[in-house]
Amino acid sequence: MTIDVIPIYIATAAAVVVTVVAVAFRLLTLPAAITAAVILVASAVFWGYTGFAVYAIPFLLNGALGAIGKKKRKEREQKLHEHSGRRGLKQVLVNGGPALIIMCIAFFTRLDALYAAAVAALAEAFADSEAGDFGMAFGGKTVNILTFKSAEKGLSGGVSAEGSVASVIAAAIVAAIPVAFNAYDGAVFGAVAAGAVLGVITDSVLGASVQALYRCPECKTLTEKKFCCRRTQLIRGSERLNNDAVNIISSLAGAVLGGGFAALALYL
Ligand SMILES: [Zn+2]
Repeated sequence: MTIDVIPIYIATAAAVVVTVVAVAFRLLTLPAAITAAVILVASAVFWGYTGFAVYAIPFLLNGALGAIGKKKRKEREQKLHEHSGRRGLKQVLVNGGPALIIMCIAFFTRLDALYAAAVAALAEAFADSEAGDFGMAFGGKTVNILTFKSAEKGLSGGVSAEGSVASVIAAAIVAAIPVAFNAYDGAVFGAVAAGAVLGVITDSVLGASVQALYRCPECKTLTEKKFCCRRTQLIRGSERLNNDAVNIISSLAGAVLGGGFAALALYL
């Protein structure tokens, strides 16, 4: 894997710009934005312009696309999820942390498949996020991925055609970024994109089975929150496996599969 080195002051300046944009457009809270800046600089140290771009591009795209169908989505999101609107520190770490650790190991081991795995982890996180956003804003019929029964929009485990198309496109966009920087070729691109899409499917399968789902005893809403009108009751899954935990597991699944496929493409 070629590493195009970014001078650290350029990486830092660019990270500060992204951070200011994120706070100005209310995409991130301040602690989250500072953490994102640190991650951006680290990614540039580990993988030059490619590392920086695989973080910055999906992040900015997510912010820009988030404006589409925002109102409709927001109302639903507040009902269903613990976090909504501006993404907090936890969200930044959940979405960016696994990939950064893998990228760090890739930097020290110089294993090309690990760089691919890091991209797959990020592609999975972005694809999953877009699947949710597009599905909630534009999704028509939403079904449970395991039972194919009609499911409530926005709840984990539900899939729609619109959300699925959005997630495949999102995975392909992130997987293609290193190709644009000549960091890897078409075969690795395919490996990374496939791993990411399988990671998103993993997310839905876990979301439909073991992830915590609650019902509000008062208004009867199905939710991922522990509190609605009053304390909600667990009706499915494990209390410990909340959305964040499932997101990390799925991101790692995308990384293992994407990195594994890339290894086959690179070393066979
Ligand atoms: Zn309620």
